[in-house]
Amino acid sequence: MTGQFFISLLNPGIGLLFAAAFFLLWLNRRDQIYVAYAAIAYLASALAFLIQDVGPVLPFELQRIPSNLGFLATGAFFAAAIVRRYGLPVPWRAMAATAALSMAAFLWFLLGHPSIAARIYAISLGAGVIALMVVRALWPIAKPHLIDRVLFWVAALSAVNLIIRPLVILSLGGGFDNYNGFQQSVYWTTVQFSQAMVSVLAAIALMVAVAIDLLAELRVQAEGDPLSGLLNRRGFEAAAGAALRRAHDERRPAALLVADLDQFKAINDTHGHAVGDAIIAAFGAHVGQIGPAGMVAGRIGGEEFALLLPGAGIEAARRLAEAIRTGLAPACEGRIPAALTPTVSIGLAAGVPGEGLSRLMRQADQALYQAKRAGRDRVRAFSPAPVPRAIA
Ligand code: GH3
Ligand code: MG
Ligand code: MG
Repeated sequence: MTGQFFISLLNPGIGLLFAAAFFLLWLNRRDQIYVAYAAIAYLASALAFLIQDVGPVLPFELQRIPSNLGFLATGAFFAAAIVRRYGLPVPWRAMAATAALSMAAFLWFLLGHPSIAARIYAISLGAGVIALMVVRALWPIAKPHLIDRVLFWVAALSAVNLIIRPLVILSLGGGFDNYNGFQQSVYWTTVQFSQAMVSVLAAIALMVAVAIDLLAELRVQAEGDPLSGLLNRRGFEAAAGAALRRAHDERRPAALLVADLDQFKAINDTHGHAVGDAIIAAFGAHVGQIGPAGMVAGRIGGEEFALLLPGAGIEAARRLAEAIRTGLAPACEGRIPAALTPTVSIGLAAGVPGEGLSRLMRQADQALYQAKRAGRDRVRAFSPAPVPRAIA
């Protein structure tokens, strides 16, 4: 057994290991189809390298057909995995057309006008064009995490590697007379090694992406409220605390609204819990729609909501509160019985830079209590109790 034989096992081995790993991941995350695509890509890569390097030699080198189809399938499914991770449409048709052209050229240079160098270029160029489709798909979208930029660059480097590498190395090393020479060549050894490196890099990047997606999902589950689409109490306190600290650092004020749906118990009792839920959902959507950028909004109790407005003074907060109050009934239209007109009471408090969240909450709660006492369906701002005069 030669050293070359062991090098030949490198890519099938890596491919099978990662195919198994992505398959196991997918078993636990059936909704994440991109993880399944990654498993297929690695399986295709393992099979292609096995057929190419370890499998029996067929007449007319016909085993090259399935092995190169496997290389193209690897590229296509890997591209699909990355593109699907971003919820973008997979360009299956464009990829299939590219692969078909690439295979047609390959067959011509296998059977019609044999040339190993031309065949290499036909397949490499096809796979490179598929990688470019990923670059094109990811180019315009936001890449908030480091991992997003890593995935983009994996695709870009693969494209460059696939399109440029064969040209450079073939021009340095010349063509090949036969497949024996090819498998011993600098070109094929470089392909095997660089492919192994790119495979490992890409698999690690995708696995980190899976982990990051999972963490983001868990955070939404832990800190979000599915009914209103806003944060839950825990999420609100964490995000509002952080936003208040930022406002403090920038010496900006902040205002807080606490809103409580009126007579909600009676609404539930009269119309049913589902109608109550529909109002909570409509309220959440309404607030999300008209709230300013930077607002932190959460459902902090059953039918109670808190909204932090960094940078806002009491007047801006009052305008938003009035818009929320008057817009609630229209926002519920069509979702609840027409005879029902839900209302909301809102308390406001404005803080100077450095004011803590719990103090603002207490003040806004007090204002809310006044709004309820004054008859509900209204907005009240906190005003400090007059300081008692010192008794002489
Ligand atoms: P007020 O105007 O003084 O706020 O009266 P209220 O009836 O709204 O206040 P109360 O605190 O007496 O009742 C709140 C009700 O909100 C009780 C509870 O059944 C209902 N509620 C709490 N969470 C939910 C929820 O998730 N869905 C629905 N449908 N109702 C809820
Ligand atoms: Mg209420
Ligand atoms: Mg309440």
